Amino acid sequence: MADALRGLAETLRHHRALGWSEMAFSAGDPFPDPAEALAAQEKALAGCTRCKLSRSRSTIVFGSGHARAQLLVVGEGPGEEEDRQGKPFVGRAGQLLTRMLESVGFDRERDCYIANVVKCRPERNRNPEPDEVAACNPFLMAQLDTLQPKVILALGNFAAQTLLATREGITKIRGRVYPYRACVLVPTFHPAFLLRNPGPEFRRMAWDDLKLARREYDRLTASLRTSPASVPAKGPTKVPAKVPD
Ligand code: URA
Repeated sequence: MADALRGLAETLRHHRALGWSEMAFSAGDPFPDPAEALAAQEKALAGCTRCKLSRSRSTIVFGSGHARAQLLVVGEGPGEEEDRQGKPFVGRAGQLLTRMLESVGFDRERDCYIANVVKCRPERNRNPEPDEVAACNPFLMAQLDTLQPKVILALGNFAAQTLLATREGITKIRGRVYPYRACVLVPTFHPAFLLRNPGPEFRRMAWDDLKLARREYDRLTASLRTSPASVPAKGPTKVPAKVPD
């Protein structure tokens, strides 16, 4: 409880520093079922026109996965396929993400919740702009407050820089664990970047980050488990040597 309140206080201070005066709170049951709370947040977002991304999107991509997941994966924003299907990470980068998670023993539906910094697709997959991030941030924070994950895996420059409020690039900030509110955050490369085939050293670094996230997850969920930890047996994810057609 103390951790949750500390996390909430930090979030409020962070938002106030950024100039936000309004947040998506519900005044109902303070401990609602997480699946119901997420469904209510998604409903509150329906038809959203809080920012200009609403003009070009087809579908709001709220998030998907298990409402009691201890691992929250955060990406940048929906791409074309996600915009069409209404689910995060279902395109080629999503397929790679699924394999990356599986390589350290995470099943994306069972163990993870996956969301993005912005819930609507930026046209031509450009970076979301500050006003768009600000408009969507209360919804990401509400997801975080509901899920209360133990570990956040931040994918790519944009998610990591937004969550950690830094301008440092992902190559510099990856490879270590950051305390983040009541949990820890592990930054790593975005699977779309890895698909662009930047070189084997980047795949190795991503693999190291995933193992780090797995170790943190096992450490922080040890007290919640009744059965022995599932240590992944598989080797590194094979990122295709060239971008698949
Ligand atoms: N890239 C992201 O950052 N998020 C998605 O949902 C898909 C691709």
